[in-house]
Amino acid sequence: MMNIRTRIFFLAFVTLSAVTIAFYVEYRDINKKLFAIENTLQVTNKIRTISELVHSLQKERGLSVNYLLGHDKELHNLYLKQCAITKSKWDQLKSCNLLKKNKFATNFPNALIEMRQQISSSNIDWHVVRSFYTSAINNLLELQILEITSLEYSQNISHELQSLFYLANTKESLGIVRATLNQGYSQGNLSAKELEYLIHHYGAFFDNHKIFKAISKAHIMTTQDPTWLAKTDEDMYYSVIAKIDYALNSEGKAFSGSTSAWWNEVTSIIDTLKDTEDTIFEHINNHLSVKKEYYQNYLFWYGSLIFVVLMIVILLTYFAISRILKALFILINSLNELEYTQDFSLRINSTSRDEFDQISNSINNLLDYTDKIIKEKEFLATTDLLTGLMNRRSFIKASQVEIDRSERYDTHSSLIFCDIDFFKHINDEYSHSTGDRVLKEFAKTIMNNLRTNDYICRWGGEEFLIFATETNLDSAEKLAQKLRKKIMELSIKPIEQQVTCSFGVAQRIDGESFNELCERADEALYNAKNSGRNKVCVSESTSPAKNYNIKCK
Ligand code: GH3
Ligand code: MG
Ligand code: MG
Repeated sequence: MMNIRTRIFFLAFVTLSAVTIAFYVEYRDINKKLFAIENTLQVTNKIRTISELVHSLQKERGLSVNYLLGHDKELHNLYLKQCAITKSKWDQLKSCNLLKKNKFATNFPNALIEMRQQISSSNIDWHVVRSFYTSAINNLLELQILEITSLEYSQNISHELQSLFYLANTKESLGIVRATLNQGYSQGNLSAKELEYLIHHYGAFFDNHKIFKAISKAHIMTTQDPTWLAKTDEDMYYSVIAKIDYALNSEGKAFSGSTSAWWNEVTSIIDTLKDTEDTIFEHINNHLSVKKEYYQNYLFWYGSLIFVVLMIVILLTYFAISRILKALFILINSLNELEYTQDFSLRINSTSRDEFDQISNSINNLLDYTDKIIKEKEFLATTDLLTGLMNRRSFIKASQVEIDRSERYDTHSSLIFCDIDFFKHINDEYSHSTGDRVLKEFAKTIMNNLRTNDYICRWGGEEFLIFATETNLDSAEKLAQKLRKKIMELSIKPIEQQVTCSFGVAQRIDGESFNELCERADEALYNAKNSGRNKVCVSESTSPAKNYNIKCK
């Protein structure tokens, strides 16, 4: 069986364990979410880096035709600059793990260098160049999709991811249109095949852009910055559309402006799309960062709450146990003292107002009751009920103590035997209750005339014994005479005759037992009765064996 302390400890342990497990489960769940968010943040950054590269390659693709044909000096230089930018974007992407196992990524750097060399030596058909870049861009866009599908925390950002997909396709379609028309402008007109190619991608641009706008408007723009799509310079946008439409309507005839003007306008539109893309990435980043902060704060406050709860449980357990132990300590100590001393007048002190106080009160009430019973028992065992004097048993006990004391200190002590004369006659003539009254009055009279250190008992019937401490035979005889006279003065109605009493006195001889002393006093009393009653007879014997030396007065 467990004691209270162990039970409380056990209870506290169970509570602590339950709270800790609850915290651990919640902590694991939140931590998993935090991990997923962190992972998503990293992957989003990778996707963004791929986008940067795609954007740069799209420009490089567009400018490669100008470089190859060498008509426009400004675009020619721009191509060289763009190659450097592509390299830095590629280097950024290289640090991401995702490229390591990808076959395209392994071969692409060398293939690009080779392609650039062929372009610079003008030793290649531009269509081959365009399809090289386009295939590289498509590979990178596929990589993006692969990454998006691997995201662990994509709830709440699924619309953004979807819109990014359509935005990337919009941009790529327009990039192809840009490059194709670049070539058209550089060469004067577009072949029928190129025109078809242009129509296809122009259509794809509109389709993708339409879907992108629909998703953005429905799911993103309402809660986010509505200026994303408003960033586009409308005039420039319509000018670009007009130029494309012109090419399409004139069946590939080149627009009558400069190539660089076309390039700048369409590039500005594509850059705006890129800005929009960046804004969406920022939006995803912000959303994830806010979520991350929310979960981190949640974990902090939840952890703090659990910590406070644990502390409260520990403190409450500590105070409960120390309080119980303190109360138990007082209780056990008091009970031990009670058991050891057998003093039933002791009471348990209790200052607390709890169950221990109730236990202490109950024990104290039981002690009151026990004390009362014991006192009553003691009273009944030692007292004569009629006269209130000591009874024979307690008198012998007290006398024994006095005999031992007088033996030790070598003092005198005497025993006086008294017997009411003709008591039977009083009973018979008056009544038994009158006899009782006589006994009471008799006892009271003798009690009032004794010293406080003398003892008196009702020996039986109408016989009484007095043990006079530190009293020799002479003094004891005088005491007996005094008592005899006091009794004679008694007047108890309706008794007409004088109540008298006979006394037998004996002084204790060294070595004499109580019984022997008692016998000698009884012998003297017998003599007092026989010599006419209302007398005091003393036993003058010097040895317990000689009982005959008795004098009466
Ligand atoms: P003696 O002078 O020789 O002592 O004569 P006595 O009559 O006093 O002695 P005895 O022994 O013949 O009678 C004692 C009587 O005391 C007998 C008994 O009925 C009576 N007695 C004993 N105890 C009580 C008591 O408690 N109350 C009353 N009323 N009488 C008692
Ligand atoms: Mg008698
Ligand atoms: Mg008598």
